[in-house]
Amino acid sequence: MSLNITNKLSLRSLSSGPARNCCRVTAVAQRRPLVFKSFWSRSPKVAEQAEWSPTTTGPTRPTKQEAKQLQEQELKQAKQQEALSCEGSNIGQLDGSPAKCIAVNIDGVPRIFDTVFLRDSCPCPKCRDPDSKQKVFQTSDVPEDLEGSYKMVVDQEKGPSIELEWKNDVKGYGSEHRTRHSIDWLRRALNTEVELRGGVRHDERVLWDREKITKDNKWVDYKEYMSQDDTLFDALTHLNRYGLLFIKNVPDSQESVVDLASRIGTLKDTFYGRTWDVRSKPKAENIAYTPQFLGLHMDLLYTTNPPHLQLLHSLRARTPGGESFFSDSYHAAHQLQRLAASHFRTLCTFPTSLRSFIAASHAYEKLLSAEESLYEYRLNEGECVIFDNRRVLHARRAFDATKGERWLKGAYVDDDVFFSKLRVLEEKYEGKWLAEGVVRHALK
Ligand SMILES: [Zn+2]
Repeated sequence: MSLNITNKLSLRSLSSGPARNCCRVTAVAQRRPLVFKSFWSRSPKVAEQAEWSPTTTGPTRPTKQEAKQLQEQELKQAKQQEALSCEGSNIGQLDGSPAKCIAVNIDGVPRIFDTVFLRDSCPCPKCRDPDSKQKVFQTSDVPEDLEGSYKMVVDQEKGPSIELEWKNDVKGYGSEHRTRHSIDWLRRALNTEVELRGGVRHDERVLWDREKITKDNKWVDYKEYMSQDDTLFDALTHLNRYGLLFIKNVPDSQESVVDLASRIGTLKDTFYGRTWDVRSKPKAENIAYTPQFLGLHMDLLYTTNPPHLQLLHSLRARTPGGESFFSDSYHAAHQLQRLAASHFRTLCTFPTSLRSFIAASHAYEKLLSAEESLYEYRLNEGECVIFDNRRVLHARRAFDATKGERWLKGAYVDDDVFFSKLRVLEEKYEGKWLAEGVVRHALK
């Protein structure tokens, strides 16, 4: 457990998502990191650093109208790029001759697809292992001069589909090889690509301060969480939005935290063990294992992949003190960006001067630990908190270890495990899920 106050800003939301569809997608998806690189040489003015004090107000984000305007502008640019995508090559038509790109009518509009993309994603049993569904060739095996022609067919399973025939197919594939893609699949691929190119990112996270989380906080019953998938879906959706969730009526057992975590997936093992105990002991190897005050922090930030979820189950709470408190670092980061943009930029910049960093981190820390930002709660026995360790900072007041026992049992779950479960439940209950900020609709 680390005491680093500096947390990782949401760099994940700045990095590009998987850009498999087309080479130009990559170029546009990288735009955001480039914007950040332009901050490289800028440092805050001394006057901006001195005597800085925030006036905290409620959570802020761009207004819906601002976000919509930005999105429309980006989609317009994406469409212009799409029009240029097959420049200089013939565009193949329905029942036409082979070409590098083809036009397919989707919902009454001719849409252009690069045949390399269609060939690369061929779902036939020669291209995908029927059991594992894994691809059996490499993308780099697709020849540069690949061309395809297509006709319409009605696939028994997938409905209306295009069937492609190949000129200069991947080595080893005979002339009888055909590729079928359903119109549903093409529509989804198109939407994904346009969203990626346009830089559209859906983000359902709700930023919170004390007032907001006091109103929106969620408690879930242990038995319902363990036995009902719709309750689990509701709970994990809330956890994803707020980064904070509470479970009540948890059985008094050291295994309960394992059961709660396993409902999401595999536990993350660390050098503290698969689960670990937060209780005071002599000559503690970690400050958490003392009765001292523990400031706002995230766990294991010094590792390559810090834990995503952290679970803390209260087994004994019989000492005075020991209250937990939480602060939403994304809310504080948004406030910092609005109130002191230069400090925000400094914290997004590496390397930066230590002096600028200190000034910026003071400003950030003030926002994080402002009374209005903190949600305080003293966990009772039989209660468990689950929080996003990379977003929500946690802390603990000192307690008097001579007056009784305080014992929390903890566990971690990685982000891949959490998002896998969330996406499976999203697909089951909503027919769509969010991956890297892009909405993916379930297909037949
Ligand atoms: Zn194939």
